[in-house]
Amino acid sequence: MPLYDFRCRVCGRTFEAMAKMDAGHSVCACGGTAERLLSVGRGYRADADWLPSVTAVVDRDSPAPHVRAFLAEPSRANYRRWLAGEKLRPLEDGESRRPPAPGPEIARQVRARFAARRGAA
Ligand SMILES: [Zn+2]
Repeated sequence: MPLYDFRCRVCGRTFEAMAKMDAGHSVCACGGTAERLLSVGRGYRADADWLPSVTAVVDRDSPAPHVRAFLAEPSRANYRRWLAGEKLRPLEDGESRRPPAPGPEIARQVRARFAARRGAA
C-alpha cells in the first residue's frame, strides 16, 4: 500500500500512514477522523500526477482565497474550489475520484487571465 499524508479534523495533526489507493480517510492518534492530503513533488503519490500541472498555472501571488487555500493545501477539494474560483470547467459526474489535469487550453486561458490582471493593476 502507498503512503499518504492525512490531516486530523479534530487536532489538526498531519501524519503519514499507509492506506489503500482509494482511502480518503484515516484515524488519528487522538481518535479523530483524518482527511487524506495530497502533496506536491512526492513521487510515491501515484494518483497525484495532476498536481504539478495545476501548480504550474496557479498564480502564487494572488491574494484570492481559493488560490491561497489551494497553495496551502493542494487537496482535491481545494483544486475543485480553485477551478470554480477561476471559473474554469467544473467537474462532471464520474470525475470526482480523479480530477482532470488542466490541459493546454485551460493553461492558456489561465495565463491569459493572469496577464490581463497584472496588466490592469
Ligand atoms: Zn487528531
